[in-house]
Amino acid sequence: MMNRITILGSTGSIGRQTLDIIAEYPDRFAAHCLIAGSNAALLAEQAKNANARCAIIADESRYAELREALADTGIEALCGRQAILDAMTDADADTVVTATVGYSGLEPTIHAIRSGKKIALANKETLVVAGELITTLLGQSASTVIPVDSEHSAIYQCLVGETPESVRQLIITASGGPFRKMTIDQLRAVTPAEALRHPNWSMGAKITIDSATMLNKAFEIIEAHWLFGVGAEKIKAVVHPQSIIHSLVEFVDGSVKAQLGLPDMHLPIRYALGETERLATDAERLSLTDCGPLEFFEPDMERFPCIGLAYESLRRGGNTACVVNAANEIANAAFLRGEIGFLDIYRIIVATLEKAQFVATPTFDDYVASNEEARRIANELIASK
Ligand code: NDP
Ligand code: MG
Repeated sequence: MMNRITILGSTGSIGRQTLDIIAEYPDRFAAHCLIAGSNAALLAEQAKNANARCAIIADESRYAELREALADTGIEALCGRQAILDAMTDADADTVVTATVGYSGLEPTIHAIRSGKKIALANKETLVVAGELITTLLGQSASTVIPVDSEHSAIYQCLVGETPESVRQLIITASGGPFRKMTIDQLRAVTPAEALRHPNWSMGAKITIDSATMLNKAFEIIEAHWLFGVGAEKIKAVVHPQSIIHSLVEFVDGSVKAQLGLPDMHLPIRYALGETERLATDAERLSLTDCGPLEFFEPDMERFPCIGLAYESLRRGGNTACVVNAANEIANAAFLRGEIGFLDIYRIIVATLEKAQFVATPTFDDYVASNEEARRIANELIASK
């Protein structure tokens, strides 16, 4: 059976690699609808190359460009929020890959879950912002989620055939980012260009900065909590600079399972689209004798305090992680524009948390309001600096 795939965020790093996997297995996968933020030219080119049925641009001001580029191709061109939400519930799509960045993934993912889609989830912010709501909705729907994030794909693979009671802890590996060995004084002075140079992974700008602050690891701890139903006290991060072991699970009998592979996102995307079936590939393979020694270190919470925000968010619960995410989206972008320093990102998040209203049991509308409030507070904090 052909699996018809819709990609929310096809022009980004994960989106482009998802199209590679669709092209690698033409007998199994077909691109159904491709969706981008504002890059109409690349979206149109992708839709033509992949022979997609439909292309949607979120930014309505780029619609004319998309429509023109797709004229006479038979590919439907659409734009805006409602078209995206309709694509999430389109009966002709089997799987949705959520490869958009940040908070923008939340509402479409909720629609995809409600209509019972198979979801390959890359957009971790959806689970960070509203993990409790998403988990509840998944419990009420036929929808399934397979993680694309490499660490969660690894844990998912380690848990196959195991019972929840047998798990002692989840160990999430972290490369440590480009600034792993820097002192606080050095961190104060790093530039956006330096932060964008990730040692092992080539990713979109936002997640690359989140990896440099290690807030990405905090997000992944929260993501693991909701995906696997494991308490925060049983989830730890360990720095593994080579990014060969993608994560591990320790069991009650003392056994530890790990998943290894080259640091290449095609691997977890292939596993998620194959719905855990192992799809054979000719892609480059891991050679244990060539990959060099594998090292492990405790993360340094003093230099990378963002990791602690995972435990704080899960302890406080409610809308806390939603506020952390929103403040980070603003601070991350301000750092990239050169408006604040690297260490200010954490400070802005903490200051926003202090000012934002706490909501203990948020509804979807509460998340929307909380996201807006936190963004406004973070913007004010940056402007008054
Ligand atoms: P990119 O910034 O490279 O790509 C983001 C994609 O989302 C682009 O296609 C962009 O379109 C699109 N987009 C932006 N805003 C909207 C919107 N409002 N509606 C629809 N589409 C939109 O991000 P990445 O691919 O790096 O990351 C995507 C997600 O996957 C993130 O949540 C990230 O944390 C996660 N992830 C990424 C990994 C990686 O290796 N890159 C690894 C693990 C997780 P446009 O190009 O037009 O702006
Ligand atoms: Mg990851």
